[in-house]
Amino acid sequence: MTDLSDYQQVLTPNYGLPPKIIVRGQGCELFGQSNERYLDLAGGIAVSALGHCHPDIVKALTEQANKVWHLSNVLANEPAIELAKALVAATFADRVFFCNSGAEANEAAIKAARKAAFDLHGPGKNEIIAFNDAFHGRTIATVTAGGQPKYRTGFGPMPEGFTHLPFNDCNALEAQISEKTCAVMVEAVQGEGGVRPICPTFFEKIRAACDRVGAALIVDEVQTGMGRTGKLFAYQHSDITPDILSSAKSLGCGFPIGAMLCKEWISEHLVAGTHGSTYGGNPLGTAVAGKALEIINTPELLGNVVARGQQLMEGLNTLNSKHELFKTIRGKGLLIGAVLKDEYSGRSGELSALTMHEGLMTLVAGPNVHRFAPPLVISEVEIDEALQLLDCAYSKFNKQT
Ligand SMILES: *Cc1c(COP(=O)(O)O)cnc(C)c1O
Repeated sequence: MTDLSDYQQVLTPNYGLPPKIIVRGQGCELFGQSNERYLDLAGGIAVSALGHCHPDIVKALTEQANKVWHLSNVLANEPAIELAKALVAATFADRVFFCNSGAEANEAAIKAARKAAFDLHGPGKNEIIAFNDAFHGRTIATVTAGGQPKYRTGFGPMPEGFTHLPFNDCNALEAQISEKTCAVMVEAVQGEGGVRPICPTFFEKIRAACDRVGAALIVDEVQTGMGRTGKLFAYQHSDITPDILSSAKSLGCGFPIGAMLCKEWISEHLVAGTHGSTYGGNPLGTAVAGKALEIINTPELLGNVVARGQQLMEGLNTLNSKHELFKTIRGKGLLIGAVLKDEYSGRSGELSALTMHEGLMTLVAGPNVHRFAPPLVISEVEIDEALQLLDCAYSKFNKQT
């Protein structure tokens, strides 16, 4: 039987050793090699928005698989055009570029903002302002944009032109942004950085400052997009319009696809030959994402995100009055982070390991935050079950302490 000692032999060690091999998933449940069951509040890190093996998604995938999988961008395909139309209709965007991951969507965003600034103002306008603790992906440019220096260490030299500022700090932004700034890149909720929502006044300040200096506002919605926070995209909780938005994770509900959405004033600089991706916009991925968008962008599904998010948040607060582990519980919709009290700092990994022993998959967001990003289709009964399992795990954590 395939086991984790094989994993240790032949996979690069960059993920550490995973605790488990999973062979099957259905709805919000996962099953291991001995058919042991887990309730899934991790959702493949905010990806499996419709759970596992959603029948309509399986149907969209298999129907397209029997038509055509891949063409390259030398040829066009129907699912990509239909998905772009649907994304444009549902958002601020005029146009869409497809790729295969969140990092690639952010690469496209960075390149598009730089290219527009170059064409409009010449080479001097190239600064990209990003924020401490941000996460934008693992490519060289996106780890440079990200605000966690540990992800850059040893990979230098890094590309130039990125400035990092404290998140949610209006004064720091005002002091730094200038005519040299071509873009400000920000997450609507810092996901990997600890599930920290953007402050609405900070978001407004960024928009106004970008308008003043002619910079593009890039909103990274790789984690917060596709219904995760209770709106299709998290920027839609505000009146703010991005110039560029990146999407991935839940966009394909587990099929690898990313997208860079943008306004016409950006896209008109991506003339033929300026950017591309062999797999980007392939018919399999876009057929799946098209069906996912159709299901997610409905009052029923988005309403469930809000209701289940409230239920989970309230349940966590109740558990916390019993176990007293967290100093705050924050987030939006079904992206929730419980921040450990200082005396437990560094121990979020222990918590998620304990929940797994109870049969519950959960996440961390850094060493101090216990994170939850379940499928958006999770039911009231399943959240109740999850809260019971968390109660057991938190009791055991307290006993160990
Ligand atoms: C996960 C994530 C990324 C990177 O996406 P990949 O598909 O892993 O490249 C970028 N930005 C945010 C906000 C993310 O959460």
